[in-house]
Amino acid sequence: MKKESVFTVFLDRDGVINEEPGPILRPEQFRFIPGSVQAIRRINDKGWRCLVVSNQAAFAKRQLTMENFQRICEKMEQGLREVGAHVDDLFYCPHYPRWQEGWDAELCGPCDCRKPGTLLFHQAAEKHGVDWKQTVFIGDTTTDFEAARRLGIPMIGVQTGHAGKDGKCDGTPTLWVKDLQMAVEEVLLDDNTRHDIIGCNMDTCE
Ligand SMILES: [Mg+2]
Ligand SMILES: [Zn+2]
Repeated sequence: MKKESVFTVFLDRDGVINEEPGPILRPEQFRFIPGSVQAIRRINDKGWRCLVVSNQAAFAKRQLTMENFQRICEKMEQGLREVGAHVDDLFYCPHYPRWQEGWDAELCGPCDCRKPGTLLFHQAAEKHGVDWKQTVFIGDTTTDFEAARRLGIPMIGVQTGHAGKDGKCDGTPTLWVKDLQMAVEEVLLDDNTRHDIIGCNMDTCE
C-alpha cells in the first residue's frame, strides 16, 4: 500500500511567526505576529507538516546563547500550545559568513545551511520524508525567496518582518500576501488557490 504523502509547510521564523524589531536574543523579545499562532493551528488541524527553518547568525556574533535560544523556543512552543498548535520541527543555522573581532571564529565563515543555502531544507526533508511536490515555503526576506528558487518549490512572501526589503538577494516569491494568517487561510486552505500556487512550480521539482 502506497503511503499518501503529507503536505509540508516550511516556515521562516523571524518576521513570519514573530515580530522582528532586531535579532531575537532573549525570550522577552519574542512576540507573536497577530494571527500567526492561529495560522499554525490551522496547518496542524489540516494534518499538514509544519517545519521551521531559521537563520540565527546571532550565535556566530556571540549575541545569542544556547540557553537563551532554548528559552525563546520554549516561549514559542508554549504560546502555540495555548491554542492547541505546534511546529513539527525547527532547523537553524548558527553561522555568519564573515568574522569580526569578538565573534565566534568557529561559527564564522561560509556554510551551506544559512539561507539562501538549502542544506537545512534537505536535512528536514530527509528526516521527515518530505515530498517536494507537496511543499510550500512562507518567508519574509529575499534570502527565503532565493532558497525556494534553488529548491524549486513555491514561495509565499509575507509583508510582515522585512517584507522582502532586505535587499540581500534578487529572489521574488511566487505570491505576496499580507501575513502568515492570510497565507494559510486564503491560499493554502483554499484547494483551488493552493493548487494554482503549488502546480505552477511543479515542473521545476526534480
Ligand atoms: Mg525572516
Ligand atoms: Zn550555517
